[in-house]
Amino acid sequence: MIFNPEKCRIKDERMKPFIDIEEIEDHLATTKNPDKQEVLDIIQKSLNKNRLSLRETAILINAEDTELIEAIKDGARQLKEKVYGNRIVLFAPLYIGNKCKNNCLYCGFRSSNKAAIRNTLTDEEIIKEIEALEDNGQKRLILVYGEHDSYNPEYIAHTVRLAYSVKKGRGEIRRVNINAAPLTIEGFRTVKKAGIGTYQIFQETYHKPTYEKYHLGGPKKDYDYRLTSLDRAQEAGLDDVGIGALFGLYDWKFEVMALIRHTNHLEACYNVGPHTISFPRIKKASGLSIDNKYLVSDSEFTRIIAILRLAVPYTGLILTARENAEVRDEVIRFGVSQIDGGTKLELGSYSKSKNEEQDLNKEQFAINDTRSLGEIIDELIDKEFLPSFCTACYRLGRTGEHFMEFSVPGFIKRFCTPNAILTLAEYLTDYATPELSEKGWNLVEKELQKLNEPKLEKQIREKLEKIKNGERDLYF
Ligand code: SAM
Ligand code: SF4
Repeated sequence: MIFNPEKCRIKDERMKPFIDIEEIEDHLATTKNPDKQEVLDIIQKSLNKNRLSLRETAILINAEDTELIEAIKDGARQLKEKVYGNRIVLFAPLYIGNKCKNNCLYCGFRSSNKAAIRNTLTDEEIIKEIEALEDNGQKRLILVYGEHDSYNPEYIAHTVRLAYSVKKGRGEIRRVNINAAPLTIEGFRTVKKAGIGTYQIFQETYHKPTYEKYHLGGPKKDYDYRLTSLDRAQEAGLDDVGIGALFGLYDWKFEVMALIRHTNHLEACYNVGPHTISFPRIKKASGLSIDNKYLVSDSEFTRIIAILRLAVPYTGLILTARENAEVRDEVIRFGVSQIDGGTKLELGSYSKSKNEEQDLNKEQFAINDTRSLGEIIDELIDKEFLPSFCTACYRLGRTGEHFMEFSVPGFIKRFCTPNAILTLAEYLTDYATPELSEKGWNLVEKELQKLNEPKLEKQIREKLEKIKNGERDLYF
């Protein structure tokens, strides 16, 4: 990305910490009890396809009135429907190793948790896991690692290459994202060369005193090093990055503001915001030791998602199986663009023949949505969502796809919906039960009609025929 010195104000120097607690607290303190019209105008600004400022975000956060909360949720729902449509991208996490030098009090993998059973998958085990994931129909993975000397950039790059190399039947992994510790600039270059998609790093909490309370040992103790990690990624030419906060450590209002501040920082310095934002809520973990004061309720969680949707209307929002099926079904409408499906967190568990009970000593935390990928796709279709495994933009070098979806008129109709249809068709042909297949093809028909573009419909139908005849990986 081209460095834009004009946009990079003193506050937003490259590679320099940018969170100012006072600035955020000041915005939150001076926007209490906002005027109804002001809130409605801000929602409209977002619906008119403008991102919101920190102050405007604070106003939405401070809208506590039931009627205004409903207006915000409704705005987010409208924005999702109008701009992004009904596609939901599916992926699966794959835990590679849980050795960890850090001592994060909320995490089952932390070094002081002696009950944790430590393991790193061998190459053979990784291959088996990926084959099992491919047999389920997965095309997009996120590889997850603890922070340990053995999970260095060369090793991460090796596992990424390995993941891309495994092809079973018609299965293949087309996009490998990463969730791992912060790297040096050189380290980010190494993993970029392996062809990764997004590099995700969550700040956990942007509130430094709270951060220090929860990170008691290991390199992760260094708040600033973590905060500037995605600057180093950008410096290394890796501009596809994901940010996130672990909700429940500190006040959710502060964290939402900080996520927006982080977005502004990346945009100011590198002209590109994060590809995705994640908002995990703390779940049960082996030996979990946290203060319950800031745990986020379901209704607050919905507000968080709706506010993020409106504040950064062109950023992907990821919701994971930490949440149960009910919560996921409810909040997905407010702007989520990606979810995981068929998730298992225990190392090596995708290739095990039977589903075992969750054992917290083998997992980072408990998941609450244990539905299989097939079940999730089935239910998405019932709710008129269009499941997608599309990886076209990243493979064609069309980076910043959310931004294009958002700002290029007709982009979704021309590229995203057709590619969602094609990848769903592959899934239905290769992996679905006859019942799901029937349902899925009905949805494909409906989506083709909805496009209302005979020429495009014809092009898609030609590709669908090719899929039925065994061709794979067709996209626009
Ligand atoms: N070790 C790497 C790191 O810390 O950046 C990888 C991260 S970890 C395997 C993935 C994420 O899980 C963490 O960044 C954290 O936000 C989240 N996490 C940790 N403990 C959790 C818990 N008890 N409940 C929900 N999410 C948790
Ligand atoms: Fe290690 Fe990451 Fe867990 Fe912290 S959150 S203990 S760094 S695996």
